[in-house]
Amino acid sequence: MKVPLLDLKQQLSYLRKDMLEAVTRVIDSMICIQGPEVSGFEKEVAAYCGVANGVGVSSGTDALLVSLMALGIGPGDQVLTTPYSFFATMGVVLRLGATPVFADIDPVSFNINPKAMEEALACDYDRKIKAILPVHLYGQCADMSAIMKLAGQYNLPVIEDAAQAIGAEYPMDDGVNVTWRKAGAMGLAGCFSFFPSKNLGGIGDGGMVVSDNTDFADKIRILLNHGASPKYYHGQVGGNFRLDPIQAAVLSVKLKFLEQWHQARRENADRYNKLFVEAGLVQNNFLVLPQAMYLAKKEASQQLKGSLNNAGENFHIYNQYVLRVKSRDALVTWLRSQDIGCEIYYPLALHQQKCLGPDFPVLSFPEAERAAAETIALPIFPELSADMQAYVVEKIAEFYRQ
Ligand SMILES: *Cc1c(COP(=O)(O)O)cnc(C)c1O
Repeated sequence: MKVPLLDLKQQLSYLRKDMLEAVTRVIDSMICIQGPEVSGFEKEVAAYCGVANGVGVSSGTDALLVSLMALGIGPGDQVLTTPYSFFATMGVVLRLGATPVFADIDPVSFNINPKAMEEALACDYDRKIKAILPVHLYGQCADMSAIMKLAGQYNLPVIEDAAQAIGAEYPMDDGVNVTWRKAGAMGLAGCFSFFPSKNLGGIGDGGMVVSDNTDFADKIRILLNHGASPKYYHGQVGGNFRLDPIQAAVLSVKLKFLEQWHQARRENADRYNKLFVEAGLVQNNFLVLPQAMYLAKKEASQQLKGSLNNAGENFHIYNQYVLRVKSRDALVTWLRSQDIGCEIYYPLALHQQKCLGPDFPVLSFPEAERAAAETIALPIFPELSADMQAYVVEKIAEFYRQ
């Protein structure tokens, strides 16, 4: 049996007609830049996230870049972030001439650890840290209650890298109440990616910045059109970071399926978890299952009288299903030899990247380095069949029996 890491073609059976209609609509309108497809989709995503503004941009990377530009981040500034993420999180900071400051991750959630953030902020004597950039890795939110508290103490804006987490929910705790909030809707702004492998993926690149702060959203709108306001009058230097109307039209079709896909991914994660336990691989410490940090809070919320009965349903959206495993590299080779798709997200921590150059201080973030050395992502896409999952688990069990 062949099990791909991701098979987008399976969605075509039920998406093809609507997607073609959407693309045809754009072509027939000949509105090729901005226009109603983009603004309509922006409103849909903003409503989905429960915020006032959505601003379509050209990619998740550009969503991050333009958000930091709107904050005025530049040379001499520092941005506090995680050392364990996709490169773009750090790349945008470096491209603006600023420097990333890392706080190590929590080994269970793989997300930035607020304790480590607190230490980094306490050491920032000359107040060079100008923003906090947490990442909601693999589709599960970082510990935003603690992060927003720190941001308040140090009066710093928070830009959420929610590229992998559109729709993920977090139980925001203000000390009195717990309110479930959507990824991207907790900080000053949230950044989404519509790269095809994300839970909501286009047929090419795309992204969005969401924000409840209309002044901030307006700044982004100006920056994504070369900083022009009005047209041809440039008070600042921006770029071309616009979302393509064809992508917006297709994404709007796909957005209607997003909840059902999140649900299917969660069911797949549950099935894997059960199968790995049944195979004895968890008890024998060959692997550590991904932990859903907010599942217990979801169950508690849903028992509360009068609460919406789906509060916290998206406690995890499993953009990736990532295990910590023994003999990781040999397992990857074995699975690939058995036609099973898998990937390492990510083989190097950010502070280990060569592009930082010889002048970047030699630092160690042991949990990020350990995660980079020990983790593996398995196929988890919504249409993955139970048979395929059983086969994946069987082949992993076979590897550890050898
Ligand atoms: C995918 C991703 C990005 C970049 O998004 P693109 O749309 O590919 O530019 C940024 N951050 C994280 C965490 C991502 O996973």
